[in-house]
Amino acid sequence: MLKKVLIANRGEIAVRIIRACREAGLQCVTVYSTADRTALHAEIADESVCIGPPSVQDSYLNMNALISACQNTGATALHPGFGFLSESAEFAQLCIDNGITFIGPSPESISMLGDKARAKETMKAAGVPVIPGSDGAISSVEEAKKIAAEIGYPVLVKASAGGGGRGIRRIDREDQLEEQMSVAKEEAKLFFGNDEVYLEKLIVGPHHVEIQIIADQMGNTVALGERDCSMQRRNQKVLEESPSPLMTPELRKAMQEAAVRAAKACGYYNAGTIEFLVDDDRNFYFMEMNTRIQVEHPVTEWVTGVDLVQTQLLVAQGKPLPFTQEDIQVRGHAIECRINAENPEQGFRPSPGKIRSLHIPGGPGIRVDSAVYQGYTIPPYYDSMIAKLIVHAPTRSQAIMKMRWALAEFIVDGIDSNIDFQLRLIKNKDFEAGTYDNTFLEKFLADSKNGEKENGK
Ligand code: ADP
Ligand code: ADP
Ligand code: MG
Repeated sequence: MLKKVLIANRGEIAVRIIRACREAGLQCVTVYSTADRTALHAEIADESVCIGPPSVQDSYLNMNALISACQNTGATALHPGFGFLSESAEFAQLCIDNGITFIGPSPESISMLGDKARAKETMKAAGVPVIPGSDGAISSVEEAKKIAAEIGYPVLVKASAGGGGRGIRRIDREDQLEEQMSVAKEEAKLFFGNDEVYLEKLIVGPHHVEIQIIADQMGNTVALGERDCSMQRRNQKVLEESPSPLMTPELRKAMQEAAVRAAKACGYYNAGTIEFLVDDDRNFYFMEMNTRIQVEHPVTEWVTGVDLVQTQLLVAQGKPLPFTQEDIQVRGHAIECRINAENPEQGFRPSPGKIRSLHIPGGPGIRVDSAVYQGYTIPPYYDSMIAKLIVHAPTRSQAIMKMRWALAEFIVDGIDSNIDFQLRLIKNKDFEAGTYDNTFLEKFLADSKNGEKENGK
């Protein structure tokens, strides 16, 4: 039985996990870098341990410091959150070797699915439709040229170990291939310490639709509907919603079945997300599986009524899922806006600094998962996401209305934020019509820039 959990993360997700532990009657320990002494997750946990200097290499990615923190505080389980070490098979194994329950999937699942090229091969073998491309990693420019000619341009070269939208390059013609492939390899080496890349057909104007699953260690796997994350800037999600505006009962059934098949094909347990691209004819293709809790998990929690972090805690202890597929129904509509400390007018440049005043919206159907408070100084070393605003209403148009005034009520003074930018998106006609795809936001940004030029700005 679990008594004490260490949370190896920071920011709003660490706070989210603290709350889940409290609800489950578990004690929680957090860790912090010297730049995070006054961070909310360090202030409100039952105990908090300093694990190193600001640099993530020396703190939140410092495996030995984290294991020692568990040992020194008597924590027998560790929740990795997202980012940082959440998708490190090596770290999951290190926890297990030290008798610490890793609240996530097995190291084998993490390493298989973290290799995106290999994951696609596994899914293909399991009968899950995948985006056409190379079978596994590509070893030479010649091989890449051959495959690209077969599947047809434009193609993407993608890092096998990629994440966070990094290490993806578009190639429109054969003469660009050599250069773009080498750029992608360099970026992959730099960010992921692994320069392996694979090739994929560029699906034109697709929707990013992902299926949340959760599975216990007995092999019960349940799908919890979808999230549409097509609103992206540089392949990173900005706003998410559930249901997807393009969903039909038939498509959901088919995608959920494929997702469960995908999870079972690799003996997966814990929470996981299978990301698909859906084209205009509603064909769907497996893209990758994320083996962790996701940023946008609250929208699923709201439409299904399932607490995903609580359920993670349950299945990590070897308990069975407390619900079956038949129990799951998608009710109403939820939208999430990521609130970042950044300046949209200046290329989304991060904007750390002191929050002088803060007003957080509230009321029925509004949830704010945040890591900030009035007087808090956002350090410059970490991700710029400071909060998530999630709304729920019976219909999509009601959810949009609610999001509009919730964003308008949200005040963060002292730093720059993307709140007004999110408000512009929410008011956009294509968003309102639900017809946006994953190319929408880049066009929207280009249009605003041109508009400014015309107005002589
Ligand atoms: P989600 O699919 O949950 O929205 P994101 O791609 O936005 O996930 O990533 C969540 C967080 O984890 C972000 O802070 C992102 O920068 C970070 N992240 C994701 N994948 C990686 C990775 N492979 N290496 C480092 N950071 C990552
Ligand atoms: P990451 O691991 O960084 O999340 P993904 O493989 O999930 O990388 O791709 C990130 C985003 O890039 C997707 O959500 C999608 O919008 C876009 N993308 C990826 N692959 C393709 C593709 N083959 N065609 C079109 N868009 C793609
Ligand atoms: Mg992805």
